[in-house]
Amino acid sequence: MKLTYKFRLYPTKKQEEKLSWTLDRCRFVYNKMLEGLNGQEKPNKLQLQKQLPSMKVKYPELKCVHSKVFQYEVYRLFSNLKVLGRLKKKGRKVGRLRFKGKGWFKTFTYNQSGFKLIETNKRLDLLHLSKIGDIPIRIHREVKEKTKQIIIKHCSSKKWYACITAEIKEKITRSNNTKKVGIDLGLIDFIYDSDGNKIKHPKILDKSLKKLSKEQRRLSRKKKKSKNRKKQRIKVARVHERTVNQRNDFLHKLSRCYVKGYGFIALEKLQINSMVKNRYLSKSIIDASWSKFTDFIQYKAENASVEVIKIDPKNTTINCSNCGRKVPKKLYNRIHKCKCGLEIERDYNSAINILNIGQGLSKFTPVKIEPLRELNKVPASSVVEAGSPLR
Ligand SMILES: [Zn+2]
Repeated sequence: MKLTYKFRLYPTKKQEEKLSWTLDRCRFVYNKMLEGLNGQEKPNKLQLQKQLPSMKVKYPELKCVHSKVFQYEVYRLFSNLKVLGRLKKKGRKVGRLRFKGKGWFKTFTYNQSGFKLIETNKRLDLLHLSKIGDIPIRIHREVKEKTKQIIIKHCSSKKWYACITAEIKEKITRSNNTKKVGIDLGLIDFIYDSDGNKIKHPKILDKSLKKLSKEQRRLSRKKKKSKNRKKQRIKVARVHERTVNQRNDFLHKLSRCYVKGYGFIALEKLQINSMVKNRYLSKSIIDASWSKFTDFIQYKAENASVEVIKIDPKNTTINCSNCGRKVPKKLYNRIHKCKCGLEIERDYNSAINILNIGQGLSKFTPVKIEPLRELNKVPASSVVEAGSPLR
């Protein structure tokens, strides 16, 4: 099992220059390798890798970068190629891999060797990177595990980060939690679950999203190619970064909560096509939240041996979760009101449907649902009673 930690780096001016320089050398090698790849009849990774030593003879300055870092670029090139191939198979229109221009290369990677964390017992510890130096780093969480890889990242906010991948050996025991939950990804609330919990986006995130769109509007008013525009762009990137961090923090906490609280989780499968790429950054952060959330649930559940089932959300809003009748509704109808007497919030009804469908697909038995008339405060326990099969 792998864990990734992200820590902020505080390089000195000189170190920062060196980091930027290394990043640019990696871009150079990547582009050279891509050129080589384009010249090959059949992609051959090994053959490309073998060109690295002769490249170092031709461009001696490349010797000033840890050798594993360049090897990783070959690996990166081929994994990009794989992704492209997969998209093609799915019928997507894809072009070729492109050469990376300045500013399009944001990370470089130390794999297996060339790095070391050094404890200083001060506020900032040190990250030793071979051929670069000892860079001050803020370790806000202890890394107990063996570190496998370090990705050095330069964000658009001009900040530097180290993403440390660690490996855990021990196996986590299987969850013996028998509680089950269905989760609906809502439009108004972030999620609604089959236990009647609604979870809104946290207020702090709302504030940041507002600030983000404000700064973006400011950016759009700045003159093209002006100094002020450049400054404003960095400002937007900073607010964006903070917003994404806040969102991820929220999603981590929320997904952890579900994985800890339940032994079985049913989720809706996200329709990729309906997740249109959005022009507005702030909107795209919310859109991306759902897929991030399902990703987080998935990998956290895997590690905790919690069963997760993704279901096709078709008809989950229309069908009555109590009697199965179809109750069509418009987007603005927030209440599900059925002839059988069930009257609950629309997303709550969906969440129960999701749980039921999920259980049908699982080895578990479906839940029994009692009709419910109460609206605002839904006592969840009276609705979902696990255990007794509907037969
Ligand atoms: Zn009904």
